[in-house]
Amino acid sequence: MITIKKTKTSRALKDAVELLSGVDLGVCFQCKKCSSGCPVAKLAKTRPSEIMRSLHLGAGDELLASDLVWMCASCETCSARCPMGIDVAAVIDALRKLALARGASKQKGNVPLFNRAFLKTVETFGRSYEIGMITAYKLGTGKLMNDTEKFPAMLKKGKIALLPPRGGDRKTVKRIFKAFKQNKRAKA
Ligand code: SF4
Ligand code: SF4
Repeated sequence: MITIKKTKTSRALKDAVELLSGVDLGVCFQCKKCSSGCPVAKLAKTRPSEIMRSLHLGAGDELLASDLVWMCASCETCSARCPMGIDVAAVIDALRKLALARGASKQKGNVPLFNRAFLKTVETFGRSYEIGMITAYKLGTGKLMNDTEKFPAMLKKGKIALLPPRGGDRKTVKRIFKAFKQNKRAKA
């Protein structure tokens, strides 16, 4: 459940989410189909339909700390199920971006660390490289030996590769990351 605090920034949050996601929040009629299909909703304290309702009611930046914002797997089931064609996943994505931009994220656990480790490997190798990502993640958590018993089986089944990926367009990916950072600095 989300407690809504009415503040001057409330309207600003709704507007910023609509601008970033391209979604008209006003058309949601709270049928909750997005929540019933969400694979994460059972584990999170907040459901997608509650996020939609809270934004509609003028929730402020406290919404940025909702656990679903960080637990969302971006599977887009919610968007596919919405009878109004609302891209709910884009709304959650917008909240995640705003949480980072406003320094308001109070996400629990190691989700941001995982996120950074993943993006760093994509930036470096042009594609996802699991071993590099796992190493960066484990160094960050300090729990180097956690889950290592699964490693040989995953390697054997070809689920992860020892060597970094070949091919792909590393230069273009690096250029995208560089442009994003420059854009972020310019907005700061
Ligand atoms: S499925 Fe669509 S209309 Fe129904 S609650 Fe979710 S966002 Fe609103
Ligand atoms: S995109 Fe996120 S909120 Fe939507 S159904 Fe998937 S996990 Fe749930």
